[in-house]
Amino acid sequence: MNRAKVVFLGAPGTGKGTQAKKLSAKYGLPHVSTGDILRNAVKMGTELGLKAKTIMDRGDLIPDEVILGIIKNRLVKPDCKKGFLLDGFPRTLAQAEALDSFNSVNCAIQIDVPDDVLVKRLVLRRSCPSCGTMYHLEYQLPRVEGVCDKCGTALVQREDDREDVVKSRFRVYVEKTAPLIGYYQGKGVLHNVNGNRNVEVVFSEIVQILEAAGDVNDEG
Ligand code: AMP
Repeated sequence: MNRAKVVFLGAPGTGKGTQAKKLSAKYGLPHVSTGDILRNAVKMGTELGLKAKTIMDRGDLIPDEVILGIIKNRLVKPDCKKGFLLDGFPRTLAQAEALDSFNSVNCAIQIDVPDDVLVKRLVLRRSCPSCGTMYHLEYQLPRVEGVCDKCGTALVQREDDREDVVKSRFRVYVEKTAPLIGYYQGKGVLHNVNGNRNVEVVFSEIVQILEAAGDVNDEG
């Protein structure tokens, strides 16, 4: 039975989303990214999206009560019964404590990457606004410059991947989110992973961690 309730920790750009997507495909567990949910709300022009956009564009955090409303709605969906992969949530101690009050986490994966590597990863990152495929101007170029290989849409830089905003996202991470490492360590569920390696190498280490804990079955 799949019952992995996993939280990904790590500064912006450490590869949480990339790894969560790969695990989701392997184990059939839902990848729940609060950043993706918010970006989708912005794209759809919903009330939430309109409020969230200015906060996200400057690299700040959305208020805890708003995020908790979103995540509670998502985690009660039937696909989350067998487990979930949380990416970008929790981001504050209050969010982590609230999550514990309505659900449990049995694995926290902390992905570590040096800051200078992260800045380079983020500012050179480009994404497809239509299908979400990510590219990098140094490591993962599209076949045709500026155009998505999969759907032909023009690639964009996320507003919050501009260098000045990246710096404030790091400050927010250190101040508000890094304390969660100690929080999950105290609960005995923390695993540190060196994220400054090839995506596949990082992935196989995370798979080993989850399988050693006996929380997942391969669906592939
Ligand atoms: P991400 O894609 O996870 O880097 O999230 C992008 C932006 O969405 C963040 O910089 C925040 O503005 C907002 N956001 C995403 N998740 C959360 C959260 N759990 N709490 C507060 N703000 C969030």
